[in-house]
Amino acid sequence: MKPISKSAKLANVCYDIRGPVLDKARAMEEEGQKIIKLNIGNIAAFGIEPPDEIVQDMIRNLPAAAGYTDSKGLFAPRKAVVHYCQEKNIRGVGIDDVYLGNGASELIVMALNALLDTGDEVLLPAPDYPLYTAAVALSGGTPVHYICDESSDWYPDIADIRRKITPNTKAIVVINPNNPTGALYPESLLLEIIELARQHQLIIMADEIYDKTLYDGNVHTSIASLADDVLCLTFNGLSKNYRSCGYRAGWMVVSGEKRHAKDYITGLNMLASMRLCANTPGQLAIQTALGGYQSIKDLVAPTGRLCRQRDLAYELLTQIPGVSVVKPKAALYMFPRLDPKIYPIEDDQQFAYELLAEEKVLIVQGTGFNWIAPDHFRLVFLPNSDDLKEAVGRIERFLTHYRKR
Ligand code: PLP
Repeated sequence: MKPISKSAKLANVCYDIRGPVLDKARAMEEEGQKIIKLNIGNIAAFGIEPPDEIVQDMIRNLPAAAGYTDSKGLFAPRKAVVHYCQEKNIRGVGIDDVYLGNGASELIVMALNALLDTGDEVLLPAPDYPLYTAAVALSGGTPVHYICDESSDWYPDIADIRRKITPNTKAIVVINPNNPTGALYPESLLLEIIELARQHQLIIMADEIYDKTLYDGNVHTSIASLADDVLCLTFNGLSKNYRSCGYRAGWMVVSGEKRHAKDYITGLNMLASMRLCANTPGQLAIQTALGGYQSIKDLVAPTGRLCRQRDLAYELLTQIPGVSVVKPKAALYMFPRLDPKIYPIEDDQQFAYELLAEEKVLIVQGTGFNWIAPDHFRLVFLPNSDDLKEAVGRIERFLTHYRKR
């Protein structure tokens, strides 16, 4: 029979967080092996449950939520998002500027698909959350990565961004708080990014899905709140701040200068209509979440589980020779560096395979986040303290052998 191949569009599309190393881990689990998973930010899977108020409303709303809704979403949850924007000082947002989606992911793909033609470039952080690189490639665009500087708290390197802007650059993606580094950007840096966007007429795509997952009393500023005159698309949702990834509830807000973007917005509306609507129970959960008090504060406070686990993972990792880590200020991840002089890794996917095979610990290799060299990995600090201690202990043992090879 004639072989059925994947489309050419997929040639440059990859998403290593759920890539071949995870397939190997699944196969090992099927054989009965127990694996410690530090690979994915699926909060509920680690016994950190969604707020009861959201769960109860979800159950209660289910019978009445079987129908389609308007393509952008129901009025009340979109209104709740408008209020959220007001709280975050994003001005001039009305109901029509809010799109609800099956998670932020769907809206990110939609926003890039509606924008890009072949050859259009999008500036993306390196390291990035790999959905962006994949979605730009799938949309026919060209991902262009700007460096985030580890020696400066993983902040975007403004000079590098400037160097990489060309006449084909359409947009810049800013992931703040950041996955995979846990960085949180100061206002001064956001203003520098806005200035570049202003000068070169770039759309700012702001991913703020971890904007309430902040440690050490840090405060988050929405880039859109500083950019009334630049077109901004801000992505957010319930997955992380409200521990409900599985409810697939996200939103996108269009703000700033929109008058010149009417055609693009028509394109967004068309793609939103084509997928009919976001799941209705998830939409209703947004209304409950944003209208109520189910803060993540208890988890991120100094005595809270997430903060304690962050501190523990940081402390243990930085005791290992040749391992350094920028302590995350936010989100659920850290991105440790393995000194190449001590660990001459050539292929970090192979490194992740070997760690999995030898120690039954699953991480994601740094190049899976489009990092430029095979010298980092991402660790999710969601497992409880005992599992984290065990996991980092096993990583240390693995690295000790690796050094002696
Ligand atoms: N954006 C970032 C930066 C993420 O880390 C993730 C998930 O890990 C998403 C978006 C996906 O969000 P959602 O579950 O709302 O699709």
